[in-house]
Formats: sequence, structure tokens, C-alpha cells
Amino acid sequence: MSSPTTSLPDLIAATKATLEKIAAEYTPAVFASSLAAEDMVLTDLILRGQLQGGISIFTLETGRLHAETLGMLDRIKETYDYDVKPYRPQPEAVAAYVEQNGLNAFYDSVEMRKECCRIRKIEPLNRALAGNKAWITGQRRAQSQTRAELHVQEHDEAHGMAKFNPLADWSEDDVWQYIRSNDVPYNPLHDKGYPSIGCEPCTRAIQPGEDVRAGRWWWENPDSKECGLHVVDGKLIRIKSVAAEPQQNA
Ligand code: SF4
Repeated sequence: MSSPTTSLPDLIAATKATLEKIAAEYTPAVFASSLAAEDMVLTDLILRGQLQGGISIFTLETGRLHAETLGMLDRIKETYDYDVKPYRPQPEAVAAYVEQNGLNAFYDSVEMRKECCRIRKIEPLNRALAGNKAWITGQRRAQSQTRAELHVQEHDEAHGMAKFNPLADWSEDDVWQYIRSNDVPYNPLHDKGYPSIGCEPCTRAIQPGEDVRAGRWWWENPDSKECGLHVVDGKLIRIKSVAAEPQQNA
């Protein structure tokens, strides 16, 4: 079953239109791919749509990803002949954190977890976004309570650029229908109970019926379950919606 208000063909048409607009009007733009299912839908639409000239794709290679997730870089190369650019943390920052706190200190407190995410994700993200006019994510509104107000187009005040979430209106079923219909490669962890995939020590499989984000930082309160890429100082950024992207009626 697709999104309750919009058919999948209409969602695909609207998403293609959004990506084409970004490639035409917001270059240089970057797509921050986590290499998970949603991001593979966008990867497929960008690369099959020949939009890589305006939109480049990167991933945050935190040093703590599953082998299956890293394997997606090869799958993308084989399928689309495209090299996703990995952004890695500063080695000296990682070494200092591990030396002072321990390798897995993120289990000890929310603060320790946010500091690890800051070193391994936020600082590399800031480097990846520098000099661009817009960035793109694969976030969907239905993924969690922290994403309930997500819009297709927003203004990212923290980074001073446009931010697009082209799949904001897509349901999980829409994502999987697209993947299966178009033979899109996907992370094999999704078939092992991982609907949401992050770093290996901070992600676990969930039970049927659990929230799709329940396997991420499961030891914390649900309200704090964001990696910091879309929050500032531990709070959700008040991102102003620029315009609700019109859904095309095919
Ligand atoms: S998800 Fe976990 S391992 Fe990855 S950067 Fe955040 S705290 Fe560190």
C-alpha cells in the first residue's frame, strides 16, 4: 500500500521533478546517503536520471559501519558505475575520544553519544556540505516522531543552505515497491530486521510492529534519537518550510 493521499507513480514523478529542480537551480548540490533503502531510491533516481552533474553523492564513513553497509559502495559502483564519496572523521579527534573515554563510551550517556556523533558524523558532514547551495536527505516524515514535521523543501539555518527531503511524503511501502519494481540494490541488513541502519554498535534489529527507529540508540529516550545531523545543541532545529513541494498528478 502506498502513501494514503498520493499514488506511487505520482510520488515518483514529484520526486523526479524535485531532483531535476535541484540539479538545475541549486548546483552545486550534494546528497548525503546513509546507503539505506530510502537513500538507494534517491541514488537510483539521481543516477538513472543522469543528474550526477548537478548532484553529487557522498556518505559519512564513520569507521563504525557494518560490513554490509560498506559493501553498498561496491554495489553502487557495479550497478551505476558511480563512486560515492566517503567522508571520514579526523583521525586525531577519534583517537583523543577513544583514549579519554573508551571506544564505546557512547553507551554511558547521551552527552558521550552526541560527542561521538559530533566527531564521526557532524564534523565530516560540515566538511561535505561546505561550498554547496543545497543538500538532500532520504528522510521520511513517517519514520519517527522526531521527523513528524519534515517538509520536502526546508531552509537549514545551521548550514545556511536549502535542504531537500524529496521522500518526505513516501511511506515505507512506497520505498520497497520502488526498490523491487526497479531492481534497486539494497543493504542486506534490511532483510534481517534492520529497517533503519546506522553505525554497527548503535543499531540493532527490531521486532515486527516496533517503530522503525526503535533499533537506533535503543537505550535512550525516543525524543533524543537523532544523530545531530538535523538537530542543534540537542534540540531539533526549527527548520522553516520554504514551500510545500507540489505533488504532480500523473
Ligand atoms: S551512531 Fe554511535 S558509533 Fe556512530 S557516531 Fe554516533 S555514537 Fe558514534
